[in-house]
Amino acid sequence: MLSSILSKQSCAACKFCCSFRRQSLWETPLFPPEVVEKLSKPNEYGVVGEFRDGQIVLGGYKTADPEEEVPCSFLDPHKGCILKPEDKPFDCSIWPLRIMNKDGKLVIALTPTCPSVGAVPSQALVNLVKNGLGDKIFEYAKTHPYIIKEYREGFPIILMRTK
Ligand code: SF4
Repeated sequence: MLSSILSKQSCAACKFCCSFRRQSLWETPLFPPEVVEKLSKPNEYGVVGEFRDGQIVLGGYKTADPEEEVPCSFLDPHKGCILKPEDKPFDCSIWPLRIMNKDGKLVIALTPTCPSVGAVPSQALVNLVKNGLGDKIFEYAKTHPYIIKEYREGFPIILMRTK
């Protein structure tokens, strides 16, 4: 969904958003119930995931280093995400954008840690969100409210829902 500002090649080379430090576990992707049902049993990908309330559960940290990262169960170190588009969480397809609840208002904000997009939204990203992508995200959240996260300080707000 962000291919006009974020190339598939740079995502494939980076994979930053598919690996998680302990303090980032709140950010692991959320899957719809029907996909959880499929991926928590033996499936075509050969990887059985563990989920809690739709969110993938990761563990297996080997050190006490808070910077240690554990990859998403569906990340292949060479090929990237192994999931087909229909099974990939919406959450992943809009990253580094997030829909958040800020003081009772829905906002679309930028996760400031994406190495490619940067900490400050570019004009191209703002235009993309304001000219359609934002509405798409607000619409999706109406039927999938579990993707709405609590607002965090430091996430620049790009769009606030007004209706
Ligand atoms: S589901 Fe795919 S895109 Fe999302 S974090 Fe896991 S490997 Fe990355």
